[in-house]
Amino acid sequence: MRLLLIHAKKFSYSVTEKAINNPEELDEKNRARDFENTLVVFTSVEKDDDENVVNRTAEEIFEVAKKIKPSSIVIYPYAHLSAELADPLTAQKILAQLYEKLSEKAEIQVYKAPFGWYKAFTIECYGHPLSELSKTIKKTKGGEIVRREIKKEFYIVTPDGEVFKPEEFDYSKYPDLKILVDKEVFGKVLEGGENIVNKYCRKFGFEWEPMSDHGHMRYGPHATTIMEALFQYSWQVARSLGIPVFKVIGTNMFDLSEKPVLEHALLFGDRLYELEVEGKKYVMRYAACHQQFAMLRDWIISYKNLPFGMFEVADSYRLEQRGELNLCFRLRKFYMPDLHILTRDLEQAIEASKTVQKKILEEVSKVGRRYVALYNVTRDFFEKYREVLIDFIKRDNYPALVAVIPSGIYYWILNVEYHIIDNLKRPREIATFQIDIGNGKRFNITYTDENGEKKHPVIIHTAILGGIERYIYMVLDTAAQMQLNGKTPYIPTWLSPIQVRIIPIKKEYLDYAKSIAEKLLAKGIRVDIDDREESLGKRIRDAGREWIPYIIVIGEREIKSNTINVRFRRTNDQKIMSVDELIKMIDKEIKDYPRISQTLPVMISQRPIPSYQA
Ligand SMILES: [Zn+2]
Repeated sequence: MRLLLIHAKKFSYSVTEKAINNPEELDEKNRARDFENTLVVFTSVEKDDDENVVNRTAEEIFEVAKKIKPSSIVIYPYAHLSAELADPLTAQKILAQLYEKLSEKAEIQVYKAPFGWYKAFTIECYGHPLSELSKTIKKTKGGEIVRREIKKEFYIVTPDGEVFKPEEFDYSKYPDLKILVDKEVFGKVLEGGENIVNKYCRKFGFEWEPMSDHGHMRYGPHATTIMEALFQYSWQVARSLGIPVFKVIGTNMFDLSEKPVLEHALLFGDRLYELEVEGKKYVMRYAACHQQFAMLRDWIISYKNLPFGMFEVADSYRLEQRGELNLCFRLRKFYMPDLHILTRDLEQAIEASKTVQKKILEEVSKVGRRYVALYNVTRDFFEKYREVLIDFIKRDNYPALVAVIPSGIYYWILNVEYHIIDNLKRPREIATFQIDIGNGKRFNITYTDENGEKKHPVIIHTAILGGIERYIYMVLDTAAQMQLNGKTPYIPTWLSPIQVRIIPIKKEYLDYAKSIAEKLLAKGIRVDIDDREESLGKRIRDAGREWIPYIIVIGEREIKSNTINVRFRRTNDQKIMSVDELIKMIDKEIKDYPRISQTLPVMISQRPIPSYQA
């Protein structure tokens, strides 16, 4: 349904002639009408519009009416807003439903101009910001409708395999689980409060881009270092699973007239980011699934090749609600290090999932956090694979919330969401893995088994680290919790945009500072020199504000003794050491992580002040 809403000072129309063979019948009243202070709703009914669309359209109209307070509402059939009109009969039916819906609830009079007639109209618009709005209301895609109708059954399952109803479980030892259950099962409204992570995001140059759609971020040079380090690290982690993994680069929009794309989209729900180009509709990918499946359907695969993985850090798009957008967490565009693993059958998929799960748990513990898990399972899986489910939960070593849904709705049979509980005591989903039995067939991906028969693989979807930005959210939230506990917040050295800052006390020491910087740079350590003409105190404070892990101060004594004086952010210590000692120390600290080159010039005096440091 497409709408153009106009708040009109004056509006009048009169019927001229038939536009279709069987137009709506006219009576003396609806043949011509005049209105004052009215909300005119020019309406195109489109293919696929249904009762759900009618209900939501009515809500939208009420929302607008609430704000502008018109004396009446006029539904005005108007075919020119859409190229995909419903047939006349359906359109009349839908318009009648909309009229009824509005009349039922509205406290003001609702009118409907007759359908199927050419009409002359005049309109005088108020011209305030809300006086002209256009809206498109689409049939809610499968996922959302399904989500509303599905009755989920919730259980708490312990690592020992005990099963409880959520209201009967004793949460005293599991406060994190309680928070997740309160939200997911009891729909408890979560407390608000200022999220320190937002402030930290901006500190590192993660900001909203005001010149794009809502929910798109831009990444300053500091943020870019962190992103690039994680692009590489997520690939490193994918490759460490012990199976062959192929890295690819895909495109980000897929044609909705392709059946598998449409079907997959319908299952995804109502957060699809759609695009229309030259009359064709595209969906922006919400992860790397589309691309990898579309590629894999063209590959010739033998059972001997399985299992193997395909990986991309995919730019991904989801139309999140405006009110829910959150820096580095709920975004309309983000980067998903998405890995799909093709397996022969469910048995092999379960085995591979165990390896994936192990990695997920290892990685979160490296950040110093623990997940609380939500296992979404189908009824079939819950009944037939109870032991497998318990085995997974045993590995989590923490009781899990299990949501049982009817079989045959989604493409997955097991969908595990791993949440942290953040500084605001909110569950935040970070990592995930799913076992998918539907898309192999849907996209016609096949492999040849030992008997020469074509079969569809069972596919695991996983983001082991979580979305790149969400992983960063977790890292920054960990720092937020340090601050809340009275400690100096920091992020791991391998992610720090600048790892070492050198501050020469006097200009004369600059050459010595440069020689140290060169040694560090040669080792792949990101370093800069604060050569500004500021006091030593200010320069040390600025380095602290940027959370630089190591600060080297150079004075005469250091030059004479060929040493450096190093301040450690993490421990608030200071130590005199040699450059080689420092290099050895940092080497050890970052040895398991990628070393990427820095995104900022070495000399601070050469830098303009970026928006996020102003
Ligand atoms: Zn996927």
